[in-house]
Amino acid sequence: PDTVRLLSSAQVITSAGNVVKELLENSVDAGATSLEIKMENYGLDRIEVRDNGQGIQASDTAVMAVRHYTSKISCHNDLECLETYGFRGEALGSICAVAEVSITTKTDTDDFSTQYSLDVTGKVVSQKPSHLGQGTTVTVLKLFKNLPVRRQYYANTKKCKEELKKVQDLLMAYAIVKPDLRLTLAHNKVVLWQKARVADLRSALLATLGSGTVAHLLPCRHDQEQPQITLDGFFPKPGVDYFSTSSSSHDKTFIFINNRPVQQKDITKLLRQHYTAQYQAESNRNRYPVLVLKITLPPSSIDVNLTPDKTQVLLHNKEAVLTALEALLVSLYGYRSP
Ligand code: ADP
Ligand code: MG
Repeated sequence: PDTVRLLSSAQVITSAGNVVKELLENSVDAGATSLEIKMENYGLDRIEVRDNGQGIQASDTAVMAVRHYTSKISCHNDLECLETYGFRGEALGSICAVAEVSITTKTDTDDFSTQYSLDVTGKVVSQKPSHLGQGTTVTVLKLFKNLPVRRQYYANTKKCKEELKKVQDLLMAYAIVKPDLRLTLAHNKVVLWQKARVADLRSALLATLGSGTVAHLLPCRHDQEQPQITLDGFFPKPGVDYFSTSSSSHDKTFIFINNRPVQQKDITKLLRQHYTAQYQAESNRNRYPVLVLKITLPPSSIDVNLTPDKTQVLLHNKEAVLTALEALLVSLYGYRSP
């Protein structure tokens, strides 16, 4: 059972960035408006995520990190109207299987916070009172200590830097989709990035991409019934040749489905096709437009259970979504695909 647990957890938790993503999503699910992320040695030595969310009820703490425990859904039907990032109860348990984890938490009715140390199976092995305010702090030490090959893989400088960059891209995506979230990222005690709470999507874009970039973007919207599809975009203004010059290809094309940052190949392809059609598409092959697209669909029409990290989403009505997006793009850029 130990080996099985290790192997299946190793599939859920694949990198330091992955740990940050899972902890961040738990914090947002808990209603947090402020999140502090601290990493040491690129997350291999320490990852700490502190939030000001609702905290974990004392009655739940015994099972919170046991695999498959979740407080978010109680029956299959709940999946049809899912509004939380998490629902499988896999993250905390999986992190416990590949690192040393402790959780400090306080709800609004607790008199003080309690720090829980967890073992490799996610069970609480000890607890003690502590002094933190309302919310939850998860501390992850010695990531992949029992997966030496993986630890070694991430330990080289190039990989480390890539991973930290991924964490920053990830935070940017959540900063955009959750404007009222305050976010801070520190690495080896140096604050690398932070974003204040703001009121709306446009302000969130200003705070994350900067006014220079936002000046090149145009807000646009498509809203339809049957099937119900809402598209909210900030697309490059027609006639402006504005591409990300960043070497990693996707990181300035932000696509969200029901507030989840996702990678959707055919949507990205369609966006590029229409936008680059204005220019010599050939020379722009490896450049991606800087843009934001938020797709909102009824929760029952999407399936996020394709990959453990939920970044690939199956759409029940994909053709209709592509058609709606195409209409929006045609109205903006005037290009019709052959
Ligand atoms: P899931 O998010 O799929 O429910 P997790 O393993 O990520 O599963 O978390 C297990 C449970 O622990 C959650 O359902 C929630 O009850 C609790 N939990 C985890 N992180 C937090 C947090 N930051 N604040 C409040 N509760 C949390
Ligand atoms: Mg979770």
